[in-house]
Amino acid sequence: MNKDANTAATQGSPAVKPVCAHCGGDRIVRDASVHWKRSTSEWALDDTQEPNFFCDTCNVEGIDIVQWIAVDPEAELPVMIGARVRIRDRRLIGGDRFKDREGIVVRENSLEGFYVNLDMTPRERVKKVELVMPRHLEVLWLSEPPQP
Ligand SMILES: [Zn+2]
Repeated sequence: MNKDANTAATQGSPAVKPVCAHCGGDRIVRDASVHWKRSTSEWALDDTQEPNFFCDTCNVEGIDIVQWIAVDPEAELPVMIGARVRIRDRRLIGGDRFKDREGIVVRENSLEGFYVNLDMTPRERVKKVELVMPRHLEVLWLSEPPQP
């Protein structure tokens, strides 16, 4: 889990749900354990375990099989660390060579831009990192739900 994601601005975030990265199904389950909490006299969920997700549809499991998407497909997800994004046309003079490229948001910049770790093309030899303003990013999915 990424601590930086908790600090990103998420006001007005749409409701999100986890879906399977392999099949897109939303029947995701997790194992959990509980302990008896004397102070409240009820079973309390243990949060010390590593999150492990199972997909009931295609039976894959793991800590990284889940993508968080908006419940309402029309809703825009917030840009945050760990988000998978696509770069919109920035209408740069001479054309935008990174238009439609996808990648993962790795860091926030003080000027309110975000550094995107771009997926490598077959021709590239080194990873490219591009600083992009949030309005030029389309968020495809989040690696974890936004914090309220
Ligand atoms: Zn699945």
